[in-house]
Amino acid sequence: MELPRKILVGDNVISDLGNFITDIDNKISNVVIISGETVRNKIEKNINKSLEKYRIKNYWVVRKDASFETVSRIKIEIEELKPDIILGIGGGKSVDVGKMIAYSTRKSFISIPTSASHDGISSPFVSLKGSNKPHSIKVNTPIGILADIKLISEAPCRLLSSGCGDLIGKITAVKDWELARDDNNEYFGSYAANLANMSAKIIIENSNKLVNRAHIRTIVEALISAGVASCIAGSSRPCSGSEHLFSHALEYVSNSNCGLHGERVGIGTIIMSKIHGLDHEIIIKTLENIRAPTTAKEIDVAEEQIIKSLLIAQSLRPERYTILNKIKMDHDSARTIAKSVSVI
Ligand SMILES: [Zn+2]
Repeated sequence: MELPRKILVGDNVISDLGNFITDIDNKISNVVIISGETVRNKIEKNINKSLEKYRIKNYWVVRKDASFETVSRIKIEIEELKPDIILGIGGGKSVDVGKMIAYSTRKSFISIPTSASHDGISSPFVSLKGSNKPHSIKVNTPIGILADIKLISEAPCRLLSSGCGDLIGKITAVKDWELARDDNNEYFGSYAANLANMSAKIIIENSNKLVNRAHIRTIVEALISAGVASCIAGSSRPCSGSEHLFSHALEYVSNSNCGLHGERVGIGTIIMSKIHGLDHEIIIKTLENIRAPTTAKEIDVAEEQIIKSLLIAQSLRPERYTILNKIKMDHDSARTIAKSVSVI
């Protein structure tokens, strides 16, 4: 079990980055920072000031996309620098690229999210373009997570809604995991399952208040906890089930023109909760309250793409046993299920 060593959540904590790194390991004197251009322009001065105070040198790399090609290019660029640690600052892409570089160069990684759009901010999983697998890949857990609530609150609200969608997905992910335990004798960790469930429940119970920026900390903490649940389980099982398979399938059939990760997962959770026999109305209500999409139309996806995604979802990851293994689905029944929950 590999867990983050230090987690700091609060307003303006980005100014404490130097101290945060030194607390993790006071021998760190040379770091590589991966981010996008906008984030760099916004916080570089602040970060430099904090790192200088602790005599930590930094080399900043602006990444263009989140692909294996970018990871390889940056690895060559930083090879001579011999950094002590890698930092990823930004939304999902910079954190994923940084996590992958750290893993393949055997360095530790610090995750510094600037939005709360998914649970990858604390988990040992990355999604990169150019992989031969449609789902995420396991790497190492971030050694530290620094989440500046002030910075995250400045990100578009849509990203926050997406993060909530990713969290609601834990309801069906845990149900699929229970099914795999009961039908296939698969390892099931109650603690990790409860932790993931709890992070979904906190969103469901508070969904009418969450769009208020004062509750961003709750969402960030829930996302970190969900990622930690994966660390404890040693797999993405507590956080990713049939709703994530559906999301990956939708990405595949639409060439990634299908909304944000958490938005797809939210819609997938509506459908999978219906198949599981759970209360799908509460999932729809929660998504509406947090202003996340509940229909194919809202993410610019056609009816046929939803049907096709339902038909191929399980085949994208056959070894991950889910509720989709239990039902026989053809074009008509996929259409009926999606219609019954008003996704199409
Ligand atoms: Zn997810």
